[in-house]
Parts: sequence; structure tokens; C-alpha cells
Amino acid sequence: MRDNITLKCTECGEENYIAKKNKKLHPDRVEYKKYCSRCNAKTVHKEKK
Ligand SMILES: [Zn+2]
Repeated sequence: MRDNITLKCTECGEENYIAKKNKKLHPDRVEYKKYCSRCNAKTVHKEKK
């Protein structure tokens, strides 16, 4: 039940991270604050679909 998701920077749109998500625990799109090398800052990364 664990699927790979892509985490995309909401500031610049760069796809910075691949993560695994348990869809039973997180049925909706998840958001993480992560470092973006393109923005050179911590930004909100959203699951891409
Ligand atoms: Zn960015």
C-alpha cells in the first residue's frame, strides 16, 4: 500500500524529492516543508499528481 510520490516545490515548480506515502494514512495530498536548491530556501513541497 505504499506508493512513490513526487514532491514539487510550490514556489518554482521544481520536482525535488521522491517520497513514499502510505495512502491509507494519507489519502489526501501531503505537504512538506523542504529545502529547494533552486529557490535556495525552505519552501512548501506538495505531492504531484
Ligand atoms: Zn523551488
